[in-house]
Amino acid sequence: MTKFNENYLNLKESYLFSDIAKRVETYQAANPDKKIIRLGIGDVTLPLAPSVIKSLHSAVDEMADAATFKGYGPEQGYDFLRNAIKDYYARNGVELDADEIFVSDGAKSDTGNITDMFAVDNTVLVPDPVYPVYVDTNTMNGRKIIYMDGTAENGFLPMPDPNVHADIIYLCSPNNPTGAAYNKQQLKAWVDYALENNAVILYDSAYECFIEDPELPRSIFAIEGAKQCAVEFCSLSKTAGFTGTRCGYTVVPKGIKAVAADGSELVLNKMWNRRQTTKFNGVPYIVQRAAAAVFSEAGMAEAKAMINTYKVNAKIIADTMDSVGVRYYGGINSPYIWFECPFDMYSWDFFDFMLDKIQVVGTPGAGFGKNGDNFFRLTSFNNKANTEEAMERFKTLFK
Ligand code: PLP
Repeated sequence: MTKFNENYLNLKESYLFSDIAKRVETYQAANPDKKIIRLGIGDVTLPLAPSVIKSLHSAVDEMADAATFKGYGPEQGYDFLRNAIKDYYARNGVELDADEIFVSDGAKSDTGNITDMFAVDNTVLVPDPVYPVYVDTNTMNGRKIIYMDGTAENGFLPMPDPNVHADIIYLCSPNNPTGAAYNKQQLKAWVDYALENNAVILYDSAYECFIEDPELPRSIFAIEGAKQCAVEFCSLSKTAGFTGTRCGYTVVPKGIKAVAADGSELVLNKMWNRRQTTKFNGVPYIVQRAAAAVFSEAGMAEAKAMINTYKVNAKIIADTMDSVGVRYYGGINSPYIWFECPFDMYSWDFFDFMLDKIQVVGTPGAGFGKNGDNFFRLTSFNNKANTEEAMERFKTLFK
C-alpha cells in the first residue's frame, strides 16, 4: 500500500476555532434572546475599495474579448504588478529589483511553500505565541522546531539568544496574535544573528499596513544586511481586504544563498523561481489587475481609509483596557489587542466567563502557544457600533 507521510501524524489537532464555534453555538441555543458580539474575527469585514472593483470589472471585460483575453500568465506575476509592488517598496525607502518579487495567492501559502526549499535537517526557530502555520508546515516536513518565548517581560518580542543556533527563523511583525512590532534596532539584532549563523529569516509582514509609528520598519529590508538573509512575505488580505480575493507577494532577494550537501552555494531567488515555475501557475489575471489598483494613488488612499476604520475600533478596545487597568499589547500598529486575562484567569476560562457574563466572543491565547495560556486576543474587524457595545459590556465586568 502507498506509504503516508507520517510527519502529518505529529500535527497537533487544531480545535481552536471549532471549539470556539461549538461553545458559542451551545450558549446561543440555551440563550436565544442574547445578542452575542464577535471580537474574535480574524477576517476583514469591509468590502473591496472602489478602485479595486473598477479594475476588477475592466479586467473581466478584457477576458471577454479575444483581443485582450489572457491565458496562462507568468508564474511569478505580471510585470505591471511586480513593478507596482517594487514602486511601493521604493516609496517606503526599500530598493528591490522586480525579479526579486514573486506574486502569490497569499502569505499563508508561501510561508508554507517556502519550506520546500530547505533540507529536513535544518533547525527552525519559531516564536511562541504566533500564527500556527509556521509550526504546522515544518512539522509536515519533519523538521526540528525550537521555540523562543514571547512574554510580558520582553513585550512579546523575543530576541536572539547567542547560545542557540537556528538555520531558519520565523518572525512575524506586527505579530498575530500579540500585535507587538519590532523596531529597527531589534530587527537589526535578528539580521546580525542570522548572518552570524548563516541562517535565513522568514519574515511575515502581513500586517505592515497597520504600522503608523514612523520609527517602526514596515519591511525587514529597511535593515542593513537583510537582503543577504531574509525572505519577506506580504499580503493584500489585510492591506486591502483581499482575504477572499487572494493575492500576496513574496520577496526573495538575490543576495540570499543556501548551501548544498557538496558545499556548493545556491542562490535562493533562482531556486524559488524554479520551484514556482514547477508547482504554481500564477495568480489570476483579473486578481492581479485588482491588486495593481491597490497600489495606485486612489487605491492606496482607499486602503488607508479602510485600515483607519479598523484602527478606530482598535482604539476603542485599547482605551477600554486602559480605563479598567488591564495590561495589553498591540492595538496601535496592529488590528489585534492582546491582553492579560483579568482576575488571574486561564484564557479558556476567561472565554467562558465573557461569553456567559457579557456575550462577547474573543480568542483564547492558549490557541497560539503555551505563552498565550493567560492572554486573550480581541480584533478590530467588527463594526464600530458592535465594538463600542462590546466594550461597554466589558467595563461592567469590573464593577
Ligand atoms: N500571516 C499571518 C501572520 C496571518 O495572521 C495571516 C492571516 O490571518 C496570514 C499570514 C495569511 O494571509 P493570507 O490571507 O495572505 O494567506
